[in-house]
Amino acid sequence: MPSPKHAAKKERSCAVANCGKEASRAVSGRKVEKAGISVVTDPSKTAHLCKDHYREIKKKTKKDRMLDRLDW
Ligand SMILES: [Zn+2]
Repeated sequence: MPSPKHAAKKERSCAVANCGKEASRAVSGRKVEKAGISVVTDPSKTAHLCKDHYREIKKKTKKDRMLDRLDW
């Protein structure tokens, strides 16, 4: 019988496919999608990422924003 305590202590791993590292950050799935990184989670939900991938996505979305500005 699964205890509720166990469910609350759910361990999160990075949502990026083939990563599997311990997740330390959470970002919106859409942001991840925009960065061109495929995750196993639903894009409409929050994706949990490891430090490395969070950094990567942060970098890429920043770049995107800059490109958007150039378009204006
Ligand atoms: Zn990762």
